[in-house]
Amino acid sequence: MDCVFCKIATGEIPGKILYQDDKVVAFPDIHPAAPTHILIIPRQHIPSLARLSDNDTALVGHMVKIANKLAKEGGIAESGYRVVINCGKEGGQVVPHLHLHLLGGRKLTDGMG
Ligand code: 5GP
Ligand code: ZN
Repeated sequence: MDCVFCKIATGEIPGKILYQDDKVVAFPDIHPAAPTHILIIPRQHIPSLARLSDNDTALVGHMVKIANKLAKEGGIAESGYRVVINCGKEGGQVVPHLHLHLLGGRKLTDGMG
């Protein structure tokens, strides 16, 4: 699978892993848009949120749970943070492997588009 996030998940592309378990991997975004900018991805190659099967909805819940955990550990749980999943071209998705952005550490003023 020629997918950069699959390669990060398997370790084929080395990088800093902030959290991992049998279902998900979390690592810093290469171009951080905020002081805290972490990507949380499923190990499974799911191309986008739109391609999520009924069996995988719990996986997204798990991704959110890990975002909350990392926000707490990163000291932004009280100041606040944002979780974002871009889906498809007009949704701003660039990497075609499902990922959740955890953003925080500054006042996020960007609107909803
Ligand atoms: P999207 O726009 O698809 O929701 O977000 C993709 C994100 O992945 C971007 O914020 C981009 O900076 C990040 N990204 C793209 N390639 C890499 C990479 O090779 N390593 C890491 N750590 N982040 C990446
Ligand atoms: Zn992938």
